[in-house]
Amino acid sequence: MDQSERGAPERNKLRGAIAEMEVRVRGLSAKGETESEALRVELLEASWQALMALIQLEPEPTRRECPHCHGRIRQNATRCLYCFGKSAPTGAETASAA
Ligand SMILES: [Zn+2]
Repeated sequence: MDQSERGAPERNKLRGAIAEMEVRVRGLSAKGETESEALRVELLEASWQALMALIQLEPEPTRRECPHCHGRIRQNATRCLYCFGKSAPTGAETASAA
């Protein structure tokens, strides 16, 4: 219900992590840095890990082939995103028709 309110602090954390990531990426190519390259890479990796932890990216959904155009579409898709052709989702879980 109050998703937008609850999401706000997380989003600010995400912004912070992205900003830090930007600084690290820029730091990699910066000349005359006092930090060693190895340390800069290490810091970049740490920032990346923090960013990934915040995003909590789901694993890519398994895909199936569209029977009409053979495009790669999501396993649970009922409509192809390339040709808009309808097809029944494969797999065990069948979504209730809405
Ligand atoms: Zn298709």
